[in-house]
Order: sequence, then structure tokens, then C-alpha cells
Amino acid sequence: MSIATNLQTIKSTLPDHVTLVAVSKTKPVSDLMQAYDAGQRIFGENKIQEMVDKWEQMPKDIEWHMIGHVQTNKVKYMAPFVNLVHGVDSLKLLEEINKQALKNDRVINCLLQIHIAEEETKFGLDEEELNTLLSSDSFLKMKNIRIVGLMGMATFTDNQNQIKKEFTHLKSIFDNHKNLNSENCNLKILSMGMSGDYQLAIACGSTMVRIGSSIFGGR
Ligand SMILES: *Cc1c(COP(=O)(O)O)cnc(C)c1O
Repeated sequence: MSIATNLQTIKSTLPDHVTLVAVSKTKPVSDLMQAYDAGQRIFGENKIQEMVDKWEQMPKDIEWHMIGHVQTNKVKYMAPFVNLVHGVDSLKLLEEINKQALKNDRVINCLLQIHIAEEETKFGLDEEELNTLLSSDSFLKMKNIRIVGLMGMATFTDNQNQIKKEFTHLKSIFDNHKNLNSENCNLKILSMGMSGDYQLAIACGSTMVRIGSSIFGGR
């Protein structure tokens, strides 16, 4: 199957309110251009340097999403152009994004990553840490970031019930906070679901899916 066909097939199954992020990490620019030529404009990368290289080479009407874990010392490289940072999970990282956004005279949209999986290794905040962050003075003072939603990754398992439980948990945290409208926080986006579990994620309330291998093939 071609990349264009894969994209068409996936898009035809997505409800209108769900946004597709084409996860292009490790793939060459020529593959991304096939998706671009088929109409895709939102790409997700998990390494900042790789995203910068692709941004430099590709058309400027692309929205670049950083979906990986971000090291604070690399934020400056993506601050001039990144559209959405999915994996924000600390106040320290948010402070750095705010600082670099200010230097670039921008407001950078971010999602806070919530830890929903069983694995210890997956990053993210629990609900209590989320509340602490959102009510902290330093967060309330940040003018160059916007928290526009939440992101999470389910456990890597075949057990559909467990994945469903984890997505439902994230959706309930999202619902608990979505009426919290302040200057720099307004939750509209719920980023959950990858190639293997996006249909379940949508059934559980996802509004943004991050799909890589089903579009571009295995890595
Ligand atoms: C790689 C990755 C994806 C896409 O995974 P696929 O299984 O290839 O669809 C989605 N989200 C994150 C955070 C990723 O790192």
C-alpha cells in the first residue's frame, strides 16, 4: 500500500471532530512529501533535531507537533516554529517553553501529558500533580504558553479492557478540568490513540490521534 492510500483509508474512518497527526519519526523527507502531496499538513516527530531538519526542508504550511519527551536544553531549537508540544510533564519544562516562546515573540500551545499506563517508564503527571501545576503561581504568570489539552499513552498490551480503562481514566481527568478557563489554560484537545488503539481511543473521547506505522509502515 502507498502512503497516500494508507492516509486516505485512515482519514475515511475518522469522525470530523478528530484531528490526525501523521507521526513521521525516523522516516525520510521523501515519505513525508508523499503524505504532504496527499493533503496531510500535520506531522508529529519525537526528536527535536530531526523535526528541525525536516522543517527546514519542507513547505512552510506544515504544522509541526513535538510528540516525544522534551529535554529543556533543546526547547530553543523548536521554539521558532513548533505548533503543539504534546509531552509537557513538568513546570520546569513549561517555564523553559514560556521563556523561549517569549524570545520568539510567540505563544506556544502545549498539552500536559498524563501518566495513565501501568509501565513505570512512560512519562506524565498524575491528577494531583496536574492540579498542583495548574494552580501554581509561576504557571498562572506565564504569558507565552497556552495549555490547550491533555495527552496520554496507554500500556503496550493486547488487553483491550485495560487500554479502555486507561483511556477512560484520561477522559475523566480531561472532563474534570475542561471548564477551567483561564488566560493560559483552556482544554479543548484530548490527544490519545496510536496505530494500534486509535479506534478505541476515539470511542473513549479522543479528539486527536497520533498515527505513524499505519501510514508510513513499520520503523
Ligand atoms: C511513535 C509514536 C506514536 C505513533 O506510533 P504508531 O504505533 O507508529 O502509530 C504516537 N505517539 C507517540 C508519543 C509516539 O512516540
